[in-house]
Amino acid sequence: MAGTRRRDLGDPTTGIRSDLASDYAVPGLDEALAMHDVKYLKVRRHGKLILDLKINDDIIIIPSGVDNDLPVYISEIQTWKGKIKAIKKQRESKERWLIVAWYYSPSEFQGLNAPDSKQNDFGSKELVFVSTHLDVIHWETVDGQAPIAMFEEEDIELDEIPESYFYCRGVWDDRKEKWLKKRPAATCICRHRYKLHEDGLMHFCPRPYCHKWYHADCLEQHKWIDADLTEIEIELQWEMSLDIDEKHSTLAESIPHAPLRNMTVHGRAPDPYSFIPDDLLKLARQPIIRGGDYGAIGNAAVVLRARVIVDRVARHGEELLDDWREHVWLREKTTEVPGSNPNDAAKVKNALLNAGGGEHFTAGGNKIPRHSVPDFWHRIKDGFEVSYKCPGCGNVI
Ligand SMILES: [Zn+2]
Ligand SMILES: [Zn+2]
Repeated sequence: MAGTRRRDLGDPTTGIRSDLASDYAVPGLDEALAMHDVKYLKVRRHGKLILDLKINDDIIIIPSGVDNDLPVYISEIQTWKGKIKAIKKQRESKERWLIVAWYYSPSEFQGLNAPDSKQNDFGSKELVFVSTHLDVIHWETVDGQAPIAMFEEEDIELDEIPESYFYCRGVWDDRKEKWLKKRPAATCICRHRYKLHEDGLMHFCPRPYCHKWYHADCLEQHKWIDADLTEIEIELQWEMSLDIDEKHSTLAESIPHAPLRNMTVHGRAPDPYSFIPDDLLKLARQPIIRGGDYGAIGNAAVVLRARVIVDRVARHGEELLDDWREHVWLREKTTEVPGSNPNDAAKVKNALLNAGGGEHFTAGGNKIPRHSVPDFWHRIKDGFEVSYKCPGCGNVI
């Protein structure tokens, strides 16, 4: 979904032609719907491919209604964004038309005056997809493809969403005035939803019945802080908090079990933690965080997988998986993300080694590395270890 741009928005040397729709007699929606369907639209100018569009592509559209005679410079925020629902060919003129459904900016959505449109906790790059609002546009008004990510609050395996992307997490029906896909509920004590790349750090409680994210700033402000525990007590609480029976069962099932350790050793059974390498333990014994250096998606997938593997060795007598690093650091490729090339095995391997991987690792297949995890440092305040406490269950997060 890499954006290809025909013009540089806001660049005074190029300018933007606006109000292009007025150059054409745009057919009505019913008229356009009755036209012949085509799957692709490729536009070449002087032999160069300037537009390459297909159904379901997200696109940036130059707004109409701006004075066409002036050079106009508009920001990316001001451009219109839509999703191509159909590409149509006019029989007589061979003209091509696009039927698009619109992404609304927060202010456009609030302007609907619908019951839910008063929500005011949108991120500056957040959009609401209004799948029922269709319009016909001419391809000449398209500026290029738009990188718009669908953000799923609960999906810890989501591709990282770059800061330059617009994102969407709600689909609205403007006729029935209701959500077809609701924006996720706000989970923090402040009752505000997560603004990607704007909110600073958020901590997650992965325990049964919690599964909630909290802003570090809100925890700080409302004093959800524990200063009574030692470093090892805090680390053990992190290591042992996950919900294998419910929410994280699929994640746990995706990691194969190792054989049970041979328990017929003479004398005292060795400490199970002696089988766990420090770098794995360090991953399991840190908080689950998103935002800032942790990226918009955060470290949940890596940390929870490390906790599953540590749990099996420490408390269920299993051997350590030889390829534990792969299970922690690699994931199936889902969609194309700019900057990640799944076929570049060397790059994947380097990313893994930088993230603490080792010599047993073999890269390849259809896997890509998870987002790297910044080094975690304990917080010391007035000489004491401090950690955040979950407002839901009171335990360390
Ligand atoms: Zn908050
Ligand atoms: Zn909790």
